[in-house]
Amino acid sequence: MLPIFKAQIYAIVVLGGTLTLPFVHIDPVLQPYYDEFQLEIKDCPPAIKAASPKRIVEFTDDLEERTGNVGLCHRSVAFTRIEIDTKYWNKINDGMRYSLAIHEFAHCYLWSEHNNKPHHFMNPNMNNTTKKEVQDQLRQEIKDICGT
Ligand SMILES: [Zn+2]
Repeated sequence: MLPIFKAQIYAIVVLGGTLTLPFVHIDPVLQPYYDEFQLEIKDCPPAIKAASPKRIVEFTDDLEERTGNVGLCHRSVAFTRIEIDTKYWNKINDGMRYSLAIHEFAHCYLWSEHNNKPHHFMNPNMNNTTKKEVQDQLRQEIKDICGT
């Protein structure tokens, strides 16, 4: 098994160029949200679920002041970085935290776009919501994008 593993790593290094190796950094507070999202998209095609092997998910203290957003997804084919505003996160309830995290994950890992459906997690205007409501919407979004 070992030589095959080495060959795969080598291939990633060659193809990745300056990326060298897949790199993932997830803030420990956001890790459970990330893991749940990855589980939800497990049946999506590899081209979707394994895209952007270099990933950062982190809190930043000045995001809202800097950009006017409380969450932000920077995305390319190879690299994604999600920022969540620390102060905003600390003042919202669990349902809204789930909604915010899933909103940014959907932007970065499903390339979802905004919509204007009331109380939808992809509506750019954050509304009070529950985890159950967001989960149902996410499963529909995954069905639309991944066909599963
Ligand atoms: Zn958005």
